[in-house]
This record gives sequence, structure tokens and C-alpha cells, in this order.
Amino acid sequence: MRQVTKPENRVLLAGLRPMEADSASAALNAEGVRVDFARNAQEVLEAVAERRPGGIVLDDRLPGISGSALCQVLRRRPETRQTPILLLVAAGNEAAIRRAVDAGASDLLRRPLHGRLLARRIGTWVRLRQRESELARSRDLMRRLAAVASWEVDAAGGEFEVSDGLHDLLGADPAGPNTIQALLARCPADESARLRDHFQAAAETGESWSDECRIELESGELRYVSWEAEVLMDDHGLPTKISGSVQDVTERMQAAEQMRHLAYRDGLTGLANRNAFMERLSETLAVAQRHDRNVGLLFLDLDNFKRVNDTLGHSIGDELLCAVAVRLEMCLRQSDFVTWQTGTGLGPISRLGGDEFTVVLAEIDGPSDAASVAKRILEAVQEPFSVGRHVLAVGVSIGITLFPGDGGDVESLLRNADVAMYEAKERGRNNYQFFSQSIGDAEVRRIAIEERLRTAIDNESFDLFYQPQVDIRSGRIHGVEALIRWTDPDLGAISPNEFIPIAESCGLIVPIGEWVLREASAQAASWLAQGHPPMHMAINISPSHFENEILLESMGQVLFDTGLPPNQLVVEITENVFSADCDAVQRTLRELKRIGVQVALDDFGTGYSSLSYLKRFPVDILKIDRTFVRDVVLDSESAAITEGIVSMARALRLRIVAEGVETEKQRAFLEGIGCESMQGYLFSPPISVLEMDDLLAGGTPQGLARTS
Ligand code: C2E
Ligand code: CA
Ligand code: CA
Repeated sequence: MRQVTKPENRVLLAGLRPMEADSASAALNAEGVRVDFARNAQEVLEAVAERRPGGIVLDDRLPGISGSALCQVLRRRPETRQTPILLLVAAGNEAAIRRAVDAGASDLLRRPLHGRLLARRIGTWVRLRQRESELARSRDLMRRLAAVASWEVDAAGGEFEVSDGLHDLLGADPAGPNTIQALLARCPADESARLRDHFQAAAETGESWSDECRIELESGELRYVSWEAEVLMDDHGLPTKISGSVQDVTERMQAAEQMRHLAYRDGLTGLANRNAFMERLSETLAVAQRHDRNVGLLFLDLDNFKRVNDTLGHSIGDELLCAVAVRLEMCLRQSDFVTWQTGTGLGPISRLGGDEFTVVLAEIDGPSDAASVAKRILEAVQEPFSVGRHVLAVGVSIGITLFPGDGGDVESLLRNADVAMYEAKERGRNNYQFFSQSIGDAEVRRIAIEERLRTAIDNESFDLFYQPQVDIRSGRIHGVEALIRWTDPDLGAISPNEFIPIAESCGLIVPIGEWVLREASAQAASWLAQGHPPMHMAINISPSHFENEILLESMGQVLFDTGLPPNQLVVEITENVFSADCDAVQRTLRELKRIGVQVALDDFGTGYSSLSYLKRFPVDILKIDRTFVRDVVLDSESAAITEGIVSMARALRLRIVAEGVETEKQRAFLEGIGCESMQGYLFSPPISVLEMDDLLAGGTPQGLARTS
């Protein structure tokens, strides 16, 4: 291995006797110091010029010249002005010692020479010297940091007076010109012109000013300095003197720049992060606004990224994100509609977090430009990625918004692009969608409903209506279905068909379902307590609630609290329940059976309607969906299917409820095929508790009257 010896680790030994040289070099080598030899002054000067030793040992008696005289020569040269020089003198030669000190020797060694002692002394000197130069470097830096030059100038023009600090500031020769002009001469032309304007304006108006500019040091280094100027007025309020300071703020600027860099870059991919994106887009929009230009925003979300993360682990996920970032950069670099910001190194692509990316198209003519970029991205991402040992196929869904049409500011553009991205996901992923106001409106309403639902739950502002289920043969109301109603003060009455799916998607369905369970059970118990004959109380339970352990727990509590016999409670579920965790569903079903609560399969015939479900998941009641009921009298196929369902249910000993019975014809047909229980407008719409009270008190539902 080749090792480069630093100059400070080389020592030059001049004029030593052979035995002294041997012992000295052995000791020095052992300390890791390399040794060079010189026999006379000539060789010393050559070695100094060539190898810049970190220390020099001179015998006081060199051929033709004394050691102290040579030391004097060396001290005059810049390259050895500071080098440790040790003089080797004969013991007792007091005059030689004095001469050596006068000549600027760093140390004296007396003969006889001990190699180890020499090595220690040399080592000390070299280390000292190193530390000094480090200190000097940091002192220099500190001086620069604190470098403030103050100056003063006559408002009427004339000479500047500048403090000494300016030389330090400029890193210039103290002998050089010490004026503001000298400083201004080192600024870029436009900046120095601007500063001169400041001076002029201050002299005329008396206004103080501050500014920053760059200066080029003598060494060619570029520094930033900040200026502060204050104007002194005379008794008449006229400017007399302008005084101020110039300070080197380079380090501060660099630190700030570094912070900016860290604050604006995504740590994983090196792309711009969300902060950078938000700031840059808002700048881009401001420029576009002034120049009446269009800006496109692409919002990208990887398809199935979560699955990669979950199944292969986060590090593979992270690598995939990086690979995607690289591919995006590559494909966009070739695009005409993409401008790259060179100064900051940040491009138009940002990673907002997770697997979400954005691309800003700063100058486009219209939607087709944005579409062509989106297509290019889809193509680029289509190619599988090889990450670690895996080959991964990911798609990307892209939502697009255009400024100014789809939003006038960063937030609305981003939000709408997000909405459009979801639309792209809905449409089967791996495609792009433009934002359209109609999706936007739906989304706005969705968000509003979700928001209102939360307060509605807190305020219990829901209501339950009840729809009778009628036993066709006896004409008796044998049960009711509880149906939720909600009227929001601002949005008005909202159908459960609209808000239940929203509640399901954001988890609010559980507290809503819990409320329904409690309220409906209490109502059923109350009717029972009023002396009415027992009726089934059917409540609708959504899949996520059905899977939730809380259901059984609160059901037990509610039955206990209300005293309602469990067999009067019916839980209506849809086939969707079975697509969830089978074990949890099985458990709940078994437990419901154990406590005696009945289960109805709602909307039967609309989903997979797999008869095998009925064997695996024991239910008590089948509710024939109203679309079948609607069609039984219209087409023979529906009639045949319905007939089939009824006879099969009979064979499985399931009870049947036909829902949505609206006409006499439908009722007659259903009765004909053996369906005994019905629910629908023909008998009664869902009604309030008060109306229900009336009905139970003696009135018969309209349709019922006709059947009896
Ligand atoms: P669903 O469970 O199928 O409830 C029956 C729906 O059909 C009710 O609509 C009812 O008003 C309506 N209906 C009753 N008879 C007739 C008829 O003869 N003709 C027609 N065309 N419709 C009839 P509603 O009350 O608007 O409820 C809609 C859906 O919202 C329900 O469908 C159910 O899926 C859900 N839902 C209602 N209340 C709740 C609830 O408390 N919890 C849960 N999870 N879902 C509920
Ligand atoms: Ca139902
Ligand atoms: Ca139904």
C-alpha cells in the first residue's frame, strides 16, 4: 500500500555525524516520522523547497556556515518561517546557544545526541505546530464569521473611511486599498450598481438601507456580505453622514442553504418533498397567472403498493419507491412540457409521502399536453421493476387537474387531483383521469356528509322508522324492520342509501349501528310492555359491524337492559358479510344462534346468491330482494327464480319475507308460490313511532285491510 507522507511527518536532519544520524532516524522512524538528510546548506535549501519538512534539525557547524546563520536564512523564507528548527550545539558553548536563540531557533539540543530524546522533542514540536495551524485555521474562520468592517461616508460624497476590518473581510493584503470602492469593485456589476444606488438614495432622502451582495476575495473565493447603513442628519434634518457596516455572512447563508436543502428534499428518493412541492407550485401558479398560462398537475398513486409493503417488507417497499422515482425522472426528462429547476437541483416531480407523487407541468397549452405526459408515465411504470430478488409489477393511477380551470390555488388543485386519482382507481387502476366538476361535486358532498355524520352521532340526531312485516294468512303484523332516518339542518333529509355507504367507508357505521340496536330494542321492549303481541324487531347490521366483536357484547347488554326476549330480535345482514373474515362471521353467527337471536339474509338474489352460503352460514330468514318482487309479474324468468328460491328456502326450513311488495298482483303471485310474509308499500311505508302506535292501537295497514 502506498502511503503519502504528510510534510509535517517529515524531518530534515542536516550535518549530523553518521552514528547520530542512525540513532536519530531509528527513533524518528519508530514514531512514524520520515527522515531526510542534508550534508550542507545547499542541500538543506533544496530539501526545504522540494519536500517542505515538518521540522529541521541543524548541526551548528555545517560546512562553510554556522547552523544559526542558516536558521536565520530559513526564518526569512515564508515556507520555513514557522517550521520548528532545532539546533544541535556542543555542551557548554554558551555563545552558540545565544546565537541560536537570536536566530529564531525553536529549540536547542546539546551533544551528545540521544536519538529517543531527539524524537520526543521533534514530535512535540511537530504536534505543537499542527495544533497551531489548526488553531490558525479556525481563528481565521472565526475572524471571517465575525468579520465586520465599519465605514462612514460624507453624504455630500467624498472619501470613505473604513475600519481595518475590511482587509480581514476581503482576505486581502493589509497593504492594499482599504476603501468601500475596493469592496464594491469586488461585487458583480449589477450588485455594485444596486449598492451605489442605495448610497445615492440615502444621501438624497436620508433613508437607511440594508442589502446583501456577493464579493470575490483575492483568492477567487466567493463570499456573501450583508450591508447595513444608517444616515445621520444635521439640525435641519439634512443627511450629513452615512455610516454602516459590512459583514461576511457566507457561513450563515450556506447553513441556511443546507437547511433549505434538507427541508425540501424527500429523504428516501431525493425528489422534492411536500413542502418544496407546495411552495414551488404556488410560485408556478403566480407566474402562470401573470402570463395567462395553463399549469397541469398530475397526482400519482401507485397501485398495489401497500401489498408489496405488507408482503415483502418495508425495505423492499422503499427500494421500489426509489426505483419508481428514478423511472419517473428518466421518462419526464424527455418531456417537452416539463421544466427542470436547475439551481436547486429539484425537478418537477415530488413525493408527497407514501406512494404518492406529483408532477407539475409548468407550461402547457391544454389537457392534451397533460394527457400525453400521463400516458408516458403509465408506459414507463408499466415495465416491471426489479427490486432485490423480486420482479415487481406496479401500476399507477393518475389524477389530473389544470390551472386555472380546476382550482385557483395549490390546495384546491391538489385536492381535486386527488379526487380524480381516486376516480382513476375506481375505473380499474393503471389509468389517468381528468378532474371533472361532477366528480368534484359528489366528493364535496361526500366529505360534507361525513363531517355532518360525526356530529349527528354525537347529538344522536337520527331517527328510526318502522316498516311492518305482515303475515299474509293471519293478516297480523308479525314484525317490523327498523330503518334509519336522518335530517341534517343544512343538507336536509338524506337517504340511508346515501349516507350508510359513507358511514361504512369511514368506520362511523359501528357507532350508528350500535345506536340503532339500542334504540330499536328499547322500542320493541316498550311495545311489548304496552301489551301488544310479540313482534320481531329487525335491524340492519353492516358487514364491518357484524365482524366487530363489539356487536355481540352490546347486544347482550341491550337485551339485558331492555328485557327484550332474544328471539324477537332479528339481525338483517347481506351476503357481503360472507366475503369478510369467515371465522369471525361464523363465530358471530354461532353465538347469535346460541343466545337465540335470529338472522335474516337481506336482499337475497342480488349478490352471488350462492346457495352454498346458506349451508355454511346458518340463517333463519331469507328476504327476497325487491327487484325480484318487482319483476315477478313482468317476466317469467324472475317468476321462476323467485319460485325456486321459495321452494328451496322451504326445504331448508327458512322463513321467507318478500320485500318491496307494492301491488296486489305481486302479493297474489307471492302468496301463490307459498310466500307467507311480506313487507312493502302495499301494506305500509316505513312509519314513525307515533304512526306505528296508531297502527298497533287498532288501525290496520292499508294493504292488510284489502287482504282480509
Ligand atoms: P333495505 O334493508 O333493503 O331496506 C328496505 C328499503 O326498501 C327501505 O329503504 C324501505 O324504505 C324501502 N322500501 C320498503 N318498501 C318498499 C316498497 O314497496 N317499494 C320500494 N321501492 N321500496 C320500499 P330505506 O329506508 O331508504 O333504506 C335503504 C337501505 O338503507 C336499506 O335497504 C338498508 O340497506 C339501509 N339501511 C336503512 N336503515 C339502516 C340501518 O339502520 N342500518 C344499516 N346498516 N343500514 C340501513
Ligand atoms: Ca333490510
Ligand atoms: Ca332489503
